[in-house]
Amino acid sequence: MHEWALAEAVVSTALDAVKGKKFKEVTELRIRMGELQQIEIEIFEFALKELIQNHEILKNAEIKIEKEEAVFRCNVCGNEWKFTKDKLTDEESESIHFIPEIVHTYMRCPKCNSPDFEVIKGRGVSLESIEVR
Ligand SMILES: [Zn+2]
Repeated sequence: MHEWALAEAVVSTALDAVKGKKFKEVTELRIRMGELQQIEIEIFEFALKELIQNHEILKNAEIKIEKEEAVFRCNVCGNEWKFTKDKLTDEESESIHFIPEIVHTYMRCPKCNSPDFEVIKGRGVSLESIEVR
């Protein structure tokens, strides 16, 4: 499952970060999740909590998941803007979450109306920071 694979990636990144260092344990894992990432947060969180149990250094870590707003940048005029769901119908918003690539179908640069833009934030899952003691 997608969520488990992502959770495993986060756990292995955290393990790499503390490898060879003399920390007692990791107390917090802060994870950033792009709002365009298609993921079930509950499953992801559950997977993480299960997976950290396999590692002594991680098992008491508190998991914090932060959402990252999607930001787009126009390739024509350089304008940057955020993903605002209220401009879309529910159905459109749903499709965008399902397939991030589809944003190009529904969105235009609000400044110059170009469909040529890229997603610069709001995709993927990453380990933002860890706290140790
Ligand atoms: Zn533009």
